Amino acid sequence: MICYHPEHEMLLDYASGSLEEEPSLVAAAHLAFCELCREEVRSLEDLGGTLIDQAGAAQMEPGALDAVMERLDSPIDKDHDAMPTPKDPVLPGPITRYLGTGLDGLRWRRVGPRVEEALLATSNAKFKTSLLRIKPGTAIPSHTHGGREYTLVLKGGIIDDDRQYRRGDLMLADTEHEHRPVAAEDEECICLAVLDAPVRFTGFFTRLLNPFLGGSSPR
Ligand SMILES: [Zn+2]
Repeated sequence: MICYHPEHEMLLDYASGSLEEEPSLVAAAHLAFCELCREEVRSLEDLGGTLIDQAGAAQMEPGALDAVMERLDSPIDKDHDAMPTPKDPVLPGPITRYLGTGLDGLRWRRVGPRVEEALLATSNAKFKTSLLRIKPGTAIPSHTHGGREYTLVLKGGIIDDDRQYRRGDLMLADTEHEHRPVAAEDEECICLAVLDAPVRFTGFFTRLLNPFLGGSSPR
C-alpha cells in the first residue's frame, strides 16, 4: 500500500503539463504504483478541460482523454511508440521507457562502500537525476547542494525518523529539514532520486567566489 504521495501542487503541475521533465518522471513513476494519485490527476485533467470549455478558449479535442491516459503512461518520451517498453521487475514502465532499458542496462558507479549510483541523462542541468542502489541498513548519502529532493522507492525501503517508505512511496525533502534516512534492513534498496538544485554554479570564477562549492556541481 502506498502511504506517501506527491503534494497536490506537484500533481496539479503534472496534470497541467507545467512540471519539469525530471520531477515529471518521478510523478509518472509514482502514478504507475498509485491508483489514488492517478484518479486525482484524471480529475485535475477533467477540471482543466472543463475550465477551458467554459472559457470558450478551446474545445477538448476528440480523443483528448485517451491522449491524457497515454501521457500518464508515458509523459515524457513522445516517440515511445517506435520502441517496445523494456520490461524490468523493479523499474515501472515510465522509467524503463525513459531510459530505454532496465536496471541491467545501466552504468553503475560506486559512490561509497555500500552505495552505487547510475546517473540519468535528462534535459535540465539544474536537476541531478539518478538511480541509487543501496545495501540494506545503509545510511542514504545526503547532498548539500540546497534545493528539493524527490526520492521514490522502487525496491526495499527507506526509514526516516518514524516513517517507512516502501515501493511506490515518495519521500520529499529540502535542505532546511535535517534528516538522516536509512535503507531498510530486509533487502537492498533501489530508488529514483531527483535533486532540484536551484542554481548550478560552474566555472573557475564562480568557484573562486563560492569557496564552499569546492567545484562540486550537481552532475
Ligand atoms: Zn499517490
